[in-house]
Amino acid sequence: MSQLISSPQLDGYVASAGTSFEEVGVELFHTELNLKPEETLYTAYQVEAIIKITERCNINCTYCYFFNKEDKGYERHPKYLSIEKAREMARFIRQGAVDLSSTEIVLTLHGGEPLLLGAKRLEALCDAIVEEIGPDFVLMFRLQTNGMLVTQEWARLFAKYNMHVGVSLDGDEQANDIYRVDHRGNGTYSRVKRGIDVLQDAVARGELSPIGALCVVDPEQSGAHIYRHLAKELGFRGLNFLLPLDDYDTLAHDEALIAKYGKYLCDAFDAYVQEDDPDITIRMFETAIRAMTGGDGYNEVMELARGHWVQAVVLASDGEIGPDDTLRPTNSGFFDGRYTIGNSTLKGYLHCDSSIKIRKASAHLHTKCEACKWRNACYGGPLINRYSKEREFDNPSALCGALYSLHEHIADYLVKAGVPTQTIETSLSWRPDSP
Ligand code: SF4
Repeated sequence: MSQLISSPQLDGYVASAGTSFEEVGVELFHTELNLKPEETLYTAYQVEAIIKITERCNINCTYCYFFNKEDKGYERHPKYLSIEKAREMARFIRQGAVDLSSTEIVLTLHGGEPLLLGAKRLEALCDAIVEEIGPDFVLMFRLQTNGMLVTQEWARLFAKYNMHVGVSLDGDEQANDIYRVDHRGNGTYSRVKRGIDVLQDAVARGELSPIGALCVVDPEQSGAHIYRHLAKELGFRGLNFLLPLDDYDTLAHDEALIAKYGKYLCDAFDAYVQEDDPDITIRMFETAIRAMTGGDGYNEVMELARGHWVQAVVLASDGEIGPDDTLRPTNSGFFDGRYTIGNSTLKGYLHCDSSIKIRKASAHLHTKCEACKWRNACYGGPLINRYSKEREFDNPSALCGALYSLHEHIADYLVKAGVPTQTIETSLSWRPDSP
């Protein structure tokens, strides 16, 4: 049997597709820094796949990138992943890990809503995957849920596989229920809260790793209030804030609105540092702090990693392969169904046009970002917010104003907290061609 472990590196986080690359990249290059850059794509410390075990959802969030944007790929896929297809996927991933000399495999069970599969069927599916992956790899399961269907039975199942569970929730009832509604338009918070309580009880009994929360930023809300609700009232230890999954063409270029996104994040940051609870982590903020205080070493490792880390792939319920799921709203051919687990290998897919284009986009910034003082901490923001039909990824973030003010705010805080200005300046001014 594979070694099932929980990942200390990812404790408290279950990321949406593609958001854990930086952590993985750091680890990869700490261990393999001696490899030539052109070799690094062929070897990876860890491979990650996001598996769409269901392609339907029991709720209907109005902003959902999977069901409520232009891309309707789910309509041509089965509602549920079959055991046979899961076995085929596991063999595909296992072979990918062999080809890339990887020792760890991370599988994120995703949807739609993955719990629609049913607990018994998920258990059979996980058993099949574990069997196919075999004993030669460290296997980690993660699962992202809306929390509506969680029961004790589910909590026991998550514990059995050491799953890192993430719940999608946008704050308290008032904030959450604006966008996160069911198919009748009713709010979902109270039902999600029941599920969170079940999970937190299992965490308190030591049966489950701390659960994470993914929260979409609503610029009309108070970031501080949302942070306190998630961290203090609901007890989440690992949080991340997600900016809207809009690209350059679809996001309103409204400076006042973008400033509100910035204010939300700055207020959430203030509440986070005021709390000063070392058990709580917020990926977006901690990444920035590390870039500003980590010295040349941190930024150098990140620079290397960005161009060469192995991307997580998304496997649809019929076996189609796609890249970072957050790029789905671009509707730009990245999810055209050309590559499947039947006609490609993982290594082969990582060398296809889309994959190379995205890898290059991760490494190459728009000239405005290259010249920006926050470059190393912000790095142009999420890829989706940089994409436009005309220039593809060659744009600064459509939410640049918000990101600029957040990083300025974090730097101000660090100076007031006693971090030497010189440290911050040295970290931020490091460039790949620095002596
Ligand atoms: S703050 Fe704006 S210009 Fe600076 S790196 Fe971020 S997106 Fe680019």
